[in-house]
Amino acid sequence: MPNNPYADGCAWIEGAYVPIHEARIPILDTGFTHSDVTYDVVAVWNGKFFRLDAHMARFTSSWQRLRMTPSLSVSDMQDILYECVRRSGLRNAYVEMVLSRGVAPAGTRDPRLFDNRFYAYAIPYVWIVQPEDQEIGTHLVICQDTIRISPQAVDPTIKNFHWGDLVRGLFEAYDRGGTTAVLMDADGYLTEGPGFNLFAYYEGCLLTPDSGVLEGVTRRTVLELAEEMAIPAKMDRFRADVLRAADEIFITSTAGGVMPVTVLDDQQVGNGKPGSVTMRLRKRYWDAHDEAHWTSPVDYPA
Ligand code: PLP
Repeated sequence: MPNNPYADGCAWIEGAYVPIHEARIPILDTGFTHSDVTYDVVAVWNGKFFRLDAHMARFTSSWQRLRMTPSLSVSDMQDILYECVRRSGLRNAYVEMVLSRGVAPAGTRDPRLFDNRFYAYAIPYVWIVQPEDQEIGTHLVICQDTIRISPQAVDPTIKNFHWGDLVRGLFEAYDRGGTTAVLMDADGYLTEGPGFNLFAYYEGCLLTPDSGVLEGVTRRTVLELAEEMAIPAKMDRFRADVLRAADEIFITSTAGGVMPVTVLDDQQVGNGKPGSVTMRLRKRYWDAHDEAHWTSPVDYPA
C-alpha cells in the first residue's frame, strides 16, 4: 500500500479513523485527567490476532467492574480493532483498546453521568525487551524504593493507567544499571513490573505471583503451555529470596512474549544464560501464534 496515511498506525477516535500521529483525545477526558480509564492490548502477529477473545473478555470485565457502559457493543469494538489493523497494513501490531469515563457534562463531576468513550489504535508491534536482547537475557532489578500500589487502592486485575509506581521503579532500575524492574507489595511479596508478569523456575517448578497482579494473557498462555509440556507450575506468593535462588527467571507480556532474565540486581541468574525451560516455553509461545484455535486472521485489503 504505497502512500498509506495509516502506515505508522491507525486510530479510531470519536467515530473516525485517523492516522496515528493525528489522533487526539479531549484535554478534559477524565481518562487523562484522573486515570479514570481501563484498557487492553492484544497483539497481531503474522497478520493474525492472538487470543483476541481472552483480551476482549478481560477488557469487558474491567469496564464492568469500573461501572462503565460503552455506547458500542463488544462486537462493534472488535470490528474497529480489525479495521485499525486492516487500514495500517501492519502484519505485526500492538493493538490497544481504551474505555475512558469520558468528559464531565457541564456543571457536574458525578461519574455516573458521563458518556464513556471508546478509543482504539494499532501501531507497530512493541517489544519490552528487543528480540536480540532476549537471546542474551535482560537485567531485572527488585525495587527497594517503591512498592506496588496496594490492590485495596487500585485493583491491578483491572488493567489501568496508574503507572506512577511502575515508572518510578523503572528509574530505580536504570539508576542501578538494570533495564527493568519488579516491585514488591507492602508485605515483601513480589508482584509485577512495568507491563509484565514475573515467573521463576525454582526447585523444578514454575512460580508466578497469584495475587496483586494483572492476570496477564501471556501468563495464562504460559501456564497452559507448561501444562501441555508437563512442566510443573503453580501460582503462589513468593519473596525476593526465592527469586534470588531461582534457576531461571523470565517476564511475560503481550509486548514481547516470554522474555528471559539473566541478571537479577547485581547477580547472575543460573549460569548467566537464558534458561532451557524459559527458551522452550518461549519457542512454544511463538509457535502457538500460527495455531488456528488461538488466532483470528485479519482480512487485509488486496
Ligand atoms: N502486568 C502489567 C502491569 C501490565 O501492564 C501487563 C501488560 O501490559 C502485564 C502484566 C502483562 O499482561 P499481558 O500478558 O496480558 O500482556
